[in-house]
Amino acid sequence: MGGAEKEIKYLKGVGEARSRLFAKLGLRTLRDLLRFFPRDYEDRSVFKTISEAVDCESVSVRAMVAGAPRLSRTNRGQDKVRVRIVDDSGAAELTFFNQAYVKDALKVGETYDFYGKIKRDRVVSVTNPVFERVSGDGFDGQIFPLYHLTAKLGQRQVASAVRQALNLCGGELPNALPRSVEERYGLCRVEFAYENIHFPADFAALASARRRFLFEELFVIAALSSFRRRLRASVVGTRFEPCDLGEFYAALPFSPTAAQRRAVGDAVRDCASGLVMNRLVQGDVGSGKTLVAMALCYLAAKNGAQAAFMAPTELLAEQHYRSFIAMLEPLGLRVGLLTGSLGAKAKREAREALVFGQIDVVVGTHALISDGVEYNNLGLVITDEQHRFGVNQRAKLGQKGASPHVLVMSATPIPRTLSLILYGDLDVSIIDELPPGRQKIETYSVSENKRERTYNFVRKLVGEGRQVYIVCPSIEDNEDLPNDLKHAREYADALQSDVFPDLTVGLVHGAMKPKEKDEAMAAFVAGATQILVATTVIEVGVDVPNAALMVVENAERFGLSQLHQLRGRVGRGKYQSYCVLMRGAEGEKSRERLNTLCGTNDGFEIAEADLRQRGPGDFFGARQSGIPASRFAELAADGETIISAREAANAVLGADAELTLPENAPLRERVDAILAQAEGTIN
Ligand code: ADP
Ligand code: MG
Repeated sequence: MGGAEKEIKYLKGVGEARSRLFAKLGLRTLRDLLRFFPRDYEDRSVFKTISEAVDCESVSVRAMVAGAPRLSRTNRGQDKVRVRIVDDSGAAELTFFNQAYVKDALKVGETYDFYGKIKRDRVVSVTNPVFERVSGDGFDGQIFPLYHLTAKLGQRQVASAVRQALNLCGGELPNALPRSVEERYGLCRVEFAYENIHFPADFAALASARRRFLFEELFVIAALSSFRRRLRASVVGTRFEPCDLGEFYAALPFSPTAAQRRAVGDAVRDCASGLVMNRLVQGDVGSGKTLVAMALCYLAAKNGAQAAFMAPTELLAEQHYRSFIAMLEPLGLRVGLLTGSLGAKAKREAREALVFGQIDVVVGTHALISDGVEYNNLGLVITDEQHRFGVNQRAKLGQKGASPHVLVMSATPIPRTLSLILYGDLDVSIIDELPPGRQKIETYSVSENKRERTYNFVRKLVGEGRQVYIVCPSIEDNEDLPNDLKHAREYADALQSDVFPDLTVGLVHGAMKPKEKDEAMAAFVAGATQILVATTVIEVGVDVPNAALMVVENAERFGLSQLHQLRGRVGRGKYQSYCVLMRGAEGEKSRERLNTLCGTNDGFEIAEADLRQRGPGDFFGARQSGIPASRFAELAADGETIISAREAANAVLGADAELTLPENAPLRERVDAILAQAEGTIN
């Protein structure tokens, strides 16, 4: 793959300085450039006359330059060129900013093709259109790539570099699909695919190029899953004897849902199989994942093994510690706590108890994986709110025991298709049922003009004895933030002194010392504060059943899945609960997006919508899968291709398990590269 490894800086028109701009986009070699797919395309093949062109439409117009271009300067010192163009139907005014060369490039009386976004006011105008002279080629029938750019790097420059890369790498384009698979599934050849993903001949060619790359990626992922599964299948785990969970279930203050029992059953079976468990428990906020964790800790203890339960924050660790004590101590288990903020003495005691086997279940934060911590007989590792942890942290906890069983729990619902991609190699239990009696959280998306009413509503609920969360997007003001944001610190002060002087307003945010945070939370739990102003530190797990209203300020700043997580902090008790999404000045664009939350309480549905609108962002695992984020929406959307690609991968691996056949060599290379990258992160 010599050609593709060549560095971009050697391309014509690039050089050292400009190659640094490419590097900012993560592009170093020609291969990177080839894989740098356009984010969108400009269809300049649609022509209209000036009078036909509709306001806000991006369209091509063939017109003549009617007067000499005039160069002037804006107040901000930008060059500005204005020029009038005409066709048979009418006239339009063009404005070019920072492109002084246009003054000489456009000749009076010549005809050009212009492409840009039409603005139809008193006059028709277009800002910064692109153009070609008709006596040259015009841009008849062309589809142009639009790349993600960085400052000082233009579309033309990127396109020209890509063009050169395509020409230079012609015969040796990166390709993991064996020829036989291309043929069986009617996929286009790799040369055609690279050419047309960048410079489509037409939209049909673009579609077939896309389908091919999609298929190729899914195929590699499927092959990878199958490899990982085989690696894992050879890891022998401690065999836990299934125990009678009757005693455990009987001690619960409620009866478990069928979905909870099913998840527990799945995990118990894994632990008894003789192989190491590697299971993800996925369930919406409030679905009762903690119970599954407790049941497994009980099983481990009955088998004489220690269990470690790792939570992402001190707040959560302590809350879980309390509920673990309440549930498991009466059953004879010894529960310990280990967090970074424990005093030196308490820490030392906890460590000693762990190493001497005087603790059965330890609950904690990442302090559980710090270097001085040793276990007597660690047999089970559980991480809560999985998406908050790096894979490395998880792997490190795994290393504290001899291949302990691993259970990870996540409330971030992952669309089913995406989870197929991400967890082809993990076993998954889904808790798709909420405990009985939960009420739908009534959710409203409102703008600034409902602020008074919202405050009145806060007051009314507090009057009824309830408590309220008010969530802000930032802690304090900072130059980098847009200035319409509510900042938790100032806002808490303002609410206390100006709006609710007769009530108690608390504050909790991530920059507080753990001890302050605990105090603030404890005051809220105890009901001493009625209103808690908070940042997203309360996003996961915090459980205050008396809280019945959440107001989210600048709701447009949050992702849908994140808002769904946040609102899961209310509606945890017997009271009808509400969530008010307050849109800030910049929030109007998000109106429709936020409406998704008003319409449904189903985390999966919300995750699908989020994925469609924003891409996977920080979906659990998305970052570590080796697939560029921008590709996920597309990947997840196409269930049929996922199925075919898996089928193809299984067939290839079925016939050549080690991928030693020459035609499978490129696939083997890709799989090895990804595995090497993920080294040590797979447990
Ligand atoms: P999450 O899945 O968000 O971690 P939790 O485990 O914190 O959910 O459970 C949410 C709340 O529901 C807790 O107060 C828990 O005690 C309660 N709960 C869990 N399972 C049941 C059940 N089967 N019936 C009633 N309440 C339950
Ligand atoms: Mg939880």
